Amino acid sequence: MGNRPDESRRVPPGIDPTTPSIARVYDYFLGGKDNFEADRKVAEEALKIAPDAREAGRANRAFLRRAVRHMAAEAGIRQFLDLGSGLPTQGNVHEIAQAVAPDARIVYVDNDPVVLAHGRALLETNDVTKVVPGDVRNPAEILENPEVAEFLDFSRPLGMLFVSVLHHVNDDEDPDGAMARFRSVLAPGSHLAIVHFHNPGDEHPEAARIAVEAERNFNQNLGTGRWRTRTEILSYFGDLELIKPGLVPLADWRSAPDDLIRQDLTRHNVVAGVGRRL
Ligand code: SAM
Repeated sequence: MGNRPDESRRVPPGIDPTTPSIARVYDYFLGGKDNFEADRKVAEEALKIAPDAREAGRANRAFLRRAVRHMAAEAGIRQFLDLGSGLPTQGNVHEIAQAVAPDARIVYVDNDPVVLAHGRALLETNDVTKVVPGDVRNPAEILENPEVAEFLDFSRPLGMLFVSVLHHVNDDEDPDGAMARFRSVLAPGSHLAIVHFHNPGDEHPEAARIAVEAERNFNQNLGTGRWRTRTEILSYFGDLELIKPGLVPLADWRSAPDDLIRQDLTRHNVVAGVGRRL
């Protein structure tokens, strides 16, 4: 993928295309077109360290699909808060949830201006879907935003999604405090889905090596990216009960025959789980 001739015309106002953004790096992994040369450079570097990073991205979206379908179809959840929602792609949360229940309400939250610009155009396609700016490091700003608080009913079960976003919150930015605040609004019956970069340590030495290298690349080039331990990631669920099969590699979370994705090398580098408020 070299320079694209019409690239400058696609840059929305106020966006610096020379500074890479994780939303656009991830868009590149998924085969999207909303990325620039600087994003592709970081992505190509990541692919040298983890050649199956594209498969990891696809496995991530497949998990999201299964988790949202479970929440809507089996748990009967009718409202979702998708934090760090990313650029619109195939199988967005509202499409999955509203295929089960057309009245399901979705709020997408992200702090990337490109995501917000594209999101408003492509995701706010009906009056039960909203796109709101917000930073997960500042939960009050999101939870107390009238657009969110009046659209969602926190006294009823909510599907809260942190899919591949928490690992972009650094240790000194208080991810524990933020998660405690987000969990505090979850009524009984609510579900919390988390996907997180994982360093499995001695249990999988090759994956642990990839985690260290990938963390270096992301921090040098994007300024964020933490491959955390299982204990650290489990702590984000607080006192919620993990539903089966628990916190596992993406592909092992209730995988369906139609989304078998070969993600071998980095299998233990990204884990996923869903917790339920009893
Ligand atoms: N959740 C989507 C998915 O899994 O397909 C997108 C994941 S993408 C790797 C991470 C997203 O989180 C990006 O869109 C990025 O802009 C967003 N993000 C990163 N840090 C954030 C923050 N502090 N607050 C809100 N969004 C953030």
